[in-house]
Amino acid sequence: MKKALILGVTGQDGTYLADFLLKKNYEVFGTFRRTSHKCFERLEEIKIFDLVHTIKADLADQGSIQNAIKKSDPDEIYNLAAQSFVGTSFSQPILTSDITGLGTLRVLEAIKQLTPNIKLYHASSSEMFGNYPEIKNENSPFLPRSPYGVAKVFAHNMTKHYREAYGIFASCGILFNHESPLRGLEFVTRRISYEIAQIKFKKKTKISLGNLKAKRDWGFAGDYVEAMWMMLQQKTPDDYVIATGESHSVEEFLSLASEIAGLGDWHDLVEIDPEFIRPLDIDDLVGDPSKAKKELGWKPKVNFKELVKMMVEHDIDYFRHYVDPFDISINRN
Ligand code: NAP
Repeated sequence: MKKALILGVTGQDGTYLADFLLKKNYEVFGTFRRTSHKCFERLEEIKIFDLVHTIKADLADQGSIQNAIKKSDPDEIYNLAAQSFVGTSFSQPILTSDITGLGTLRVLEAIKQLTPNIKLYHASSSEMFGNYPEIKNENSPFLPRSPYGVAKVFAHNMTKHYREAYGIFASCGILFNHESPLRGLEFVTRRISYEIAQIKFKKKTKISLGNLKAKRDWGFAGDYVEAMWMMLQQKTPDDYVIATGESHSVEEFLSLASEIAGLGDWHDLVEIDPEFIRPLDIDDLVGDPSKAKKELGWKPKVNFKELVKMMVEHDIDYFRHYVDPFDISINRN
């Protein structure tokens, strides 16, 4: 039985990946960090918490990363842990650089010293490309426009360096945005699906948003974790863009979500809040996944409309069954 260690198993991708690997008959270990509240709700939601061996580790703490590797003795490591929210990287650039950038170096150094023969997947990001105007592939230049993007460029280049200098089997997945019903509530797609559901059940009247014109290449997280695994089944390590090849605006996401929820004209549901406007933004991010299609045999299965529907229906279902002990007047239709 193969063993996998997922750094950041409590996150969106960590949860989908753990589920995917368990179905492939892996023994799955996953790291979580100490918090003052419980942090396993995603693993619990899809009912796999009891099947994953959890180990406490923080990317700020070299010893805890080494301990996680020693305890799990894995064949494959998936480094998904990061301060992953672009918005927060503007207000916490030092923390973001420490965890998302240097944290990756701590992982690489631990692998070099303890288990140079394992296979490593590193979570790079489309945010590294910034506003480069063409469809992005593995050869496009990196022009990051956020502290998060800058930290990911550092982590990406450092991962390539350890591959070239020390022969570590390390592959980088340059993933474009991928969403799901397990996406964090601060990300714009999940905020829309969640707040649309709240509006439907009259728990609020407006959604506060920033730049409605920003366009992203949105795929489904469940499809993207398969690509991570595929990269580690190749004979040689390499870097791959994982994307759908089409982009949609925040406005389009909102319009479709409102239609699915039966709420009518989305213009009536939105207020623009300067709080959500970033000091720098990326206009349009769209990726070319041709290399992954050709070499890994990977392609996305869920399209944009199906993704929005999945997220909105999940959150409507949540509020339909949510019982607020202080409010018995809600009409759940
Ligand atoms: P996520 O839901 O935010 O999960 C991030 C994970 O990292 C969580 O388990 C989180 O733990 C953990 N983490 C945060 N700070 C840590 C620290 N100091 N030490 C150890 N663990 C820490 O993100 P995701 O969407 O699953 O993304 C997974 C990876 O892919 C990230 O590296 C992200 O930057 C990258 N990525 C994501 C996308 C996307 O669209 N989703 C696109 C490109 C790249 P807590 O649960 O305790 O917060």
